[in-house]
Amino acid sequence: MPVITLPDGSQREFDGPVSVADVAADIGPGLAAAALAGRVGNELVDTAHVIDSDADLAIITNRDAEGLEVIRHSTAHLLAQAVQSLFPAAQVTIGPVIDDGFYYDFAFERPFTPEDLEAIEAKMVEIAAQDLPIERKVMPRDEAVDFFKGLGEHYKAEIIAGIPSDDPISLYGQGDWVDLCRGPHVPSTGRLKAFKLTKVAGAYWRGDSNNEMLQRIYGTAWPDKKALKAYLVRLEEAERRDHRRIGKDLDLFSLQEEAGGGLVFWHPKGARIRRVIEDFWRESHVRAGYELLYTPHIALQSLWDTSGHTDFYREGMYQPMEEENQLYQLRPMNCPFHILIYKNTLRSHRDLPIRWAELGTVYRHEMSGALHGLMRVRGFTQDDAHIFCQEEQISAEIQAILDLTISMLNAFGFEELSIALSTRPVKAVGSEEIWDKATAALREALEAKGLDYVMDEGGGAFYGPKIDVKIRDAIGREWQCSTIQLDFNLPERFDLEYVAEDGQRHRPIMIHRALLGSIERFFGILIEHFEGKFPAWLAPVQAVIMTITDSQNEYALKVVEILKNQGFRVEVDLRNEKIGFKIRQHTLQRVPYLLVVGDREADANTLAVRTRAGKDLGSMSVDDFAESLQAELVSRGLNVMED
Ligand SMILES: [Zn+2]
Ligand SMILES: [Zn+2]
Repeated sequence: MPVITLPDGSQREFDGPVSVADVAADIGPGLAAAALAGRVGNELVDTAHVIDSDADLAIITNRDAEGLEVIRHSTAHLLAQAVQSLFPAAQVTIGPVIDDGFYYDFAFERPFTPEDLEAIEAKMVEIAAQDLPIERKVMPRDEAVDFFKGLGEHYKAEIIAGIPSDDPISLYGQGDWVDLCRGPHVPSTGRLKAFKLTKVAGAYWRGDSNNEMLQRIYGTAWPDKKALKAYLVRLEEAERRDHRRIGKDLDLFSLQEEAGGGLVFWHPKGARIRRVIEDFWRESHVRAGYELLYTPHIALQSLWDTSGHTDFYREGMYQPMEEENQLYQLRPMNCPFHILIYKNTLRSHRDLPIRWAELGTVYRHEMSGALHGLMRVRGFTQDDAHIFCQEEQISAEIQAILDLTISMLNAFGFEELSIALSTRPVKAVGSEEIWDKATAALREALEAKGLDYVMDEGGGAFYGPKIDVKIRDAIGREWQCSTIQLDFNLPERFDLEYVAEDGQRHRPIMIHRALLGSIERFFGILIEHFEGKFPAWLAPVQAVIMTITDSQNEYALKVVEILKNQGFRVEVDLRNEKIGFKIRQHTLQRVPYLLVVGDREADANTLAVRTRAGKDLGSMSVDDFAESLQAELVSRGLNVMED
């Protein structure tokens, strides 16, 4: 007689085994109709799953994050069924859920065309309308291998053959179509009401370029048509802002196949922006009491053995290189280097806290299929810092880091932040006592600053609790940039010490933190956030002076000299082109201020000032323009001439 405990603590008793669907129906017809899956204990299950003993149960609907995931996952199966019904020769491989949607990889003789996608989507709509029940079946592994081989599904057979032989295999059928899957799925295809296929791309089997190329179809799925439509609008907006396209149009950066994937080349205009970001970052850090460091990009592999990276971070690291019988390792992180400097001298409690920051370039191996513009790269510069402090200094240090984080993110126009505090995971180093103390210190810091935050229980790194800060961009997307992590592991591994007031040697606490994350990724986010229309303090060219005819050349050159001498990033366009053409071109280059000079301006020592938004600010003396621009730069764009 199972007793089912619901999330609100209420209990229901049943005479015998019950399915998740039965429990939902027992609660009410509305919930029975909305139920997509269930969570028994920590396990997600189908609504057909039968519970035969006492259990905690949550009914999952499309209002739950898991519900949306089940919808997306089930839609990937719907896609596979549609593809195989239209193209029987296509073999299925894998089809995971990703952010906002799903994809499915097929082995097929040719790439799918946009017309194919339309036909496949129409077929999906048709199968969904049939409202086919989705049924789970369990098979011994070897039987499942034979079953899929018999269907001509060699990839599936290979996947199953890789599963331990005593694990039973679950298959899911809808209509006359069957796929291997762990589940869970929605109860029937009719529950999939709002989906769209978005694109096709090539992808290698198991992500390895030595393997055959598969055809990957991407799609998105939502609980209802309204949510789907809102997403498609957002997608269009995101595509318009794609940093890879804007980066090319504005000549900011490139990734060069000749040099290898995921390595970023900063062109002069991108490099100007980077320098402004870095200068601002350095000034802010020095003001906040940090010292700046420079450390090498490679080190003996033995250092990475001491730090533990060769053990727990192996996949992220490049292969070591050998020199004079010693192995060297490209650095995936900066931490051990700062630690070596710490250890270089015996530290006293009077030296603490020590705050050391570095724009440290690191190299991490990412699968080529995972690389994405500036967002996912193999070489990048972290705006890294390490703080060594005493236990009782944690809260104050975290508060200072939060201040610096918020003021820096605000300066780039990110006002809306969401903060999460992550606590001890199951596998962790350090005593429970130190975890409790440290977590309490992080909480205290957040509360002292009056910041809202959510708890991510068990979401900390194995070496310590952390605070993550996400920013929200101009089109509502969230990006995690800042992270503040306590570390009880490295001080132990490197035997870090300081001499305390009591004359005894104690272990310092180590804090790792990055505010922007990586300069490359942050730059990508900035490009998309501003749609390439950087505020003047960041813009690679702040103003262009353009002449109407040759007779203003001398005056234009004089003005550009005056403005350059005051440190402004100004260019001059003397080309023998129509002024309308020049204005259009520099507007497309997103130059904030367009300064037109004709005879009237040359005679009166003025500039006709326009903004890239097309606003005419009228005629201004050179000095007035310089003064206004200066005010705008100093306020980092809060005090814009246009407003
Ligand atoms: Zn599935
Ligand atoms: Zn670190």
